[in-house]
Amino acid sequence: MRVSNMFIPTLREVPAEAEIDSHKLMLRAGLMRKIASGVYSFLPLGYRTFRKIEQIVREEMDRAGAQELIMSALLPAEVYQASGRWEVFGAEMFRLKDRNDREFCLGPTHEEVFTETVKNEIRSYRALPLTLYQIQTKYRDERRPRFGVMRSREFVMKDAYSFDRDEAGLDISYQKMYEAYCRIFDRCGLNYIVVDADTGAMGGSGSQEFMVKSSVGESGIAYCEACGYAANDEKAECISDSCCDTSCCSESGQDCCSEELELTKVATPDVKTIEELTEFFKCSPKEFAKTLIYKADDKIVAAMVRGDRELNETKLQNLLNCIELEMADPETVQKVTGADVGFAGPIGLDIEIIIDNEVANMKNFIVGANESGFHYKNVNIERDFKASMVKDIRTICEGDKCPKCGAPVKVELGIEVGHIFKLGTKYSDALHCVYLDENGKENPMVMGCYGIGINRTMAAIIEQNNDENGIVWPMSVAPYHVIIIPVNTKDDSQAALAEKIYSDLLESGVEVMIDDRDERAGVKFKDADLIGIPIRITVGKKASEGIVEYKLRKDSEVIELKAEEAVEKAK
Ligand code: ATP
Ligand code: MG
Ligand code: MG
Ligand code: MG
Repeated sequence: MRVSNMFIPTLREVPAEAEIDSHKLMLRAGLMRKIASGVYSFLPLGYRTFRKIEQIVREEMDRAGAQELIMSALLPAEVYQASGRWEVFGAEMFRLKDRNDREFCLGPTHEEVFTETVKNEIRSYRALPLTLYQIQTKYRDERRPRFGVMRSREFVMKDAYSFDRDEAGLDISYQKMYEAYCRIFDRCGLNYIVVDADTGAMGGSGSQEFMVKSSVGESGIAYCEACGYAANDEKAECISDSCCDTSCCSESGQDCCSEELELTKVATPDVKTIEELTEFFKCSPKEFAKTLIYKADDKIVAAMVRGDRELNETKLQNLLNCIELEMADPETVQKVTGADVGFAGPIGLDIEIIIDNEVANMKNFIVGANESGFHYKNVNIERDFKASMVKDIRTICEGDKCPKCGAPVKVELGIEVGHIFKLGTKYSDALHCVYLDENGKENPMVMGCYGIGINRTMAAIIEQNNDENGIVWPMSVAPYHVIIIPVNTKDDSQAALAEKIYSDLLESGVEVMIDDRDERAGVKFKDADLIGIPIRITVGKKASEGIVEYKLRKDSEVIELKAEEAVEKAK
């Protein structure tokens, strides 16, 4: 391409709204523009890279035996009602109505639709295993869209879903996806770590996140170099003494430590009826101070739902759905359960505490411990949920003991670029997605789901590959491989040699740009650096001798080569 014809609106100034490198650079290098909060368009240069990432993902999915299809983004409410997620998604779901007042949403993730599709078409065990995927636009009305496409409200996700006969089959499908993910992120040139994630109330048997190490990451990751243990901060077990220090009496002047906060292991509730719930909590729904763990603002929050109201069957089911899915905001929980949300506070940053006085006066109730299978007993809100205390209670810290081997762990921030999840039969049970086995017996399909954010991956690549002059694209995702810069386009021999190199490279299938603009060389160099093209060939004064300068974006070294050698090297 000829830069003189290209639409690359670069900016000299750092845009005020951008806080992190990738966001600044994506705007400055003319890769994208903002349309609305959390909504962006990709411009030509950005879209090339975007498509390259998509293509890497596609190739690796295909290699792993997954088959591509595409679902609609516009989905009827019924799809999510059967699984209970119409309510559970809460405010994060973009909802709309058609002209006949039928409810729809813009899909935030597609477990239900894939399950329905497979359910309707597959009967026999012979058709399994099956993994389907799409690369498709998702919509999430994020509470706080930020960092450009890193957390946007419209984004493209590769989402894959596997369907197996049994757990053993799922293990194999999951492993294939795991390996495909490693290849994808390797090919993208990312330095990442795979961490265990909480399956929490989703109830699956395993889940891992692919985290790109970065100081602008929004998730904490703890890992041990001695034994390979790695978990996100929701999953990481905190076993250090200092971590669970709850001393506080001196500050509040209350006698609040008479009963110490106690982390109690509880079996994951598998309760489907009021009777079972009563049995499980050893109290009637009317009395129980039930806890659940759910997410708000992308952080796990603990919430207590007081059982001081009669729960009917529907409310209970909705409550159980919330518990299972770990996803809802306080308002939603309150709305769907009809219960009073006594307390809700994200563990970690952005503390938001809703305490009504009555609840604050209650003594010694149980709350979610931000850890699947655990609750805190003897909680005293005043004492235990001061913002500073919350962090102490839960967060695993640098130097804490590794839960596996006891060596000191490292703690860093990471960007979640991919997430793989053993769902088990959660959706197949809810939607009755079954197959007939060899004996003609009906069984639920055993499912996995696997997501990668394409836009976020692109931003993460830039986050890890930039310097003070701009982006430093890895070759695999660079919008173009080579940029040729004639220093003075008015000089005939320079222009002619640059054109010759350009056409030779084009002929060899190299993706090449030529900066044929009538601009000062300094401007061209600056732009080439900003947009991060991996190889720069400069045609200057020695053009008449057939000599050019060859430079890699990631190195400072400039070498002189014969034009033909430069072409060979750049191929
Ligand atoms: P987060 O914890 O950052 O909110 P998530 O756990 O909600 O992400 P998943 O539902 O696991 O996300 O979706 C799979 C992938 O989609 C994520 O790993 C991420 O790469 C991408 N993704 C999720 N939300 C967004 C978003 N708002 N903007 C861009 N990419 C996103
Ligand atoms: Mg999220
Ligand atoms: Mg997440
Ligand atoms: Mg996730």
